[in-house]
Amino acid sequence: MKTLSAGWPEIRERVRAAEALALFLDYDGTLTPIVRHPSQARLAEGTRRLLRKLSCEKGIWVAVVSGRALEDVRRMTGVARICYVGNHGLELEGPNLRYVNPMAKKCRPVLRRIVRRLKEAVAPIPGAWIEDKGFTLTLHFRQAAPAGKKLARGLFQGVVRPYREKKQVRITAGKEVFEVRPPVRWTKGTAVSWLLDRRAALSPGPVLPIYIGDDLTDEDAFRALGKRGISVAVGAGNPLTRAQYRVRSPAEVGSFLRRLLLISERSADRAGRRDQRRVQRNIARSA
Ligand SMILES: [Mg+2]
Repeated sequence: MKTLSAGWPEIRERVRAAEALALFLDYDGTLTPIVRHPSQARLAEGTRRLLRKLSCEKGIWVAVVSGRALEDVRRMTGVARICYVGNHGLELEGPNLRYVNPMAKKCRPVLRRIVRRLKEAVAPIPGAWIEDKGFTLTLHFRQAAPAGKKLARGLFQGVVRPYREKKQVRITAGKEVFEVRPPVRWTKGTAVSWLLDRRAALSPGPVLPIYIGDDLTDEDAFRALGKRGISVAVGAGNPLTRAQYRVRSPAEVGSFLRRLLLISERSADRAGRRDQRRVQRNIARSA
């Protein structure tokens, strides 16, 4: 795997040749640095402006893809008229788009019960807490002491085991988190493929998908894109990543996005000048 700067010449050629870009961006650890508590992962105003500008470009389509609940990631990002994918793809919403996974809806009562039990179980452990995200739940233990982390892991497994054995839920692990999800193989990757199909139906024509993410859950999307897209892993969190390129930090993600914007603006300028020349020629001809 290359660093993004080493791969930039080939990426630039692909981006320039593309008629349209579909930009899929993870939120935590990709657009914002990893912080102690998810509520502190605020988007920098510069990044928000950048996303807004990208989303206004004619040939660029932007989606923020997150493990957070959809409303949460929409509120944190705060950019209108782009697509938001929440709960690792189980819910998504954008202009002319809306989807909620049916199995996720069905699983909600079971999840409610698990949320209640887990909240009780980890309440005595400082730094461990349960985030109820509607269609999924997360056990966070980043802030717990080492002994607390171990205890939280054990309690978590104890509570979820019966549900997992009955295949009522699915368990996944992330960066110092465990998640309980509906028993359905619907991932960020499935959601990205679904969106690309839907987008193709809404506005036909070739599109170059670009996916940037930092977590294990983003690997499904890297796999879904394969060679037809450009995949970028953020940070050194997963040395076995399937992404084609790597950047070190959310700051480098920002510079990459600025480069994409510049290419798009320049090609729009060129198209504008071409149109202008055509108009001038037509005027000259008719004179
Ligand atoms: Mg992330």
